Amino acid sequence: PREVRLAARPVGWPTPDDFELATSDVPALADGQLRVRNAVMSVDPYMRGRMSAAKSYAAPFAVGEAMGGGAVGVVEESRADGFAVGDHVLHALGWREVAVVDATSARVVDVDRAPASAYLGILGMTGLTAYAGLTRIASLKEGDVVFVSGAAGAVGGAVGQLAKALGASRVIGSAGSAEKVRHLVEDLGFDAAFSYKDGPVAKQLREAAPDGIDVYFDNVGGEHLEAAVGSLNLGGRIAVCGMISVYNDTEPTPGPRNLARLIQTRGLIQGFLVGDHYDLAGEYAERAAGWLADGTLTSRETFADGIEHAVDAFLGVLKGENTGKMVVRL
Ligand code: NDP
Repeated sequence: PREVRLAARPVGWPTPDDFELATSDVPALADGQLRVRNAVMSVDPYMRGRMSAAKSYAAPFAVGEAMGGGAVGVVEESRADGFAVGDHVLHALGWREVAVVDATSARVVDVDRAPASAYLGILGMTGLTAYAGLTRIASLKEGDVVFVSGAAGAVGGAVGQLAKALGASRVIGSAGSAEKVRHLVEDLGFDAAFSYKDGPVAKQLREAAPDGIDVYFDNVGGEHLEAAVGSLNLGGRIAVCGMISVYNDTEPTPGPRNLARLIQTRGLIQGFLVGDHYDLAGEYAERAAGWLADGTLTSRETFADGIEHAVDAFLGVLKGENTGKMVVRL
């Protein structure tokens, strides 16, 4: 089987040369382990951080070794109680066709209820990020006006739809193309959307939210964050989920120049990690299942096929080639 290894630590934008597609040996199983043939794997922006040596919340990938990340696959051999051959399991050893997984870090998922990819996206880490950020960090209230950046991406699309389901009066999204803007309004039910490539974010946000915003869900940082601070209403909340506009920067970028507005607005700004909020997973899974069933929530995915295209898919996410969750089918 094949796996993708980190070949070199990128400086600035990663390139295909920073990765190596290699053939791996599959070791014999020890007690408590599973051999899993991966069916789908996730490529996520946070993996850019793990390619660097800098200390962060997720350990750096080791140069010369396989990368990792969310994946769902089929158990081919099991030496662990509770896992049978043929079960689909969610685990953290993506970027390879076959994984030897400790059963303690695997969970059986029901692919009759939802496709395997949903457990990486809307029913998995992505959906929970949106839900925890809105409910717990942004304290979303009935009637709030919500702005989300990266809105046509995996987390952003979930944020917009969940905000509506949770009672937001108006949801505004920004994304990087006219087609994504159309998708937000026509397919996902956003009240307004704009392309940040069409002009200054602050101006476009003021036009889309003339009465200001109560919640900003930040996936992008930079100019978007400054614009959101500029439009924040009294008692507004900013949940900082990601700042993808700076992940490939080689120098720290200046922050918003208007943070003094947090004083007059009594505004709150808080970063968060989904990993701290798995206590909400059960509650979210139950509500999401209902919303998916009644059409309140839809999930769009962009697929790449074959491990030989995983690197392109990952680089594509950083460049905005995805609408919804980018998933690699193996
Ligand atoms: P997405 O599916 O949203 O893919 C990333 C998107 O970012 C691209 O599609 C692209 O869309 C957009 N983008 C790239 N560069 C820029 C830029 N310079 N300015 C504006 N938009 C840009 O990925 P995810 O949904 O997986 O992640 C979204 C964000 O959430 C990321 O910042 C990620 O790091 C963060 N995250 C944080 C978690 C946490 O626990 N805090 C957990 C999961 C994700 P476009 O065409 O619109 O530019």
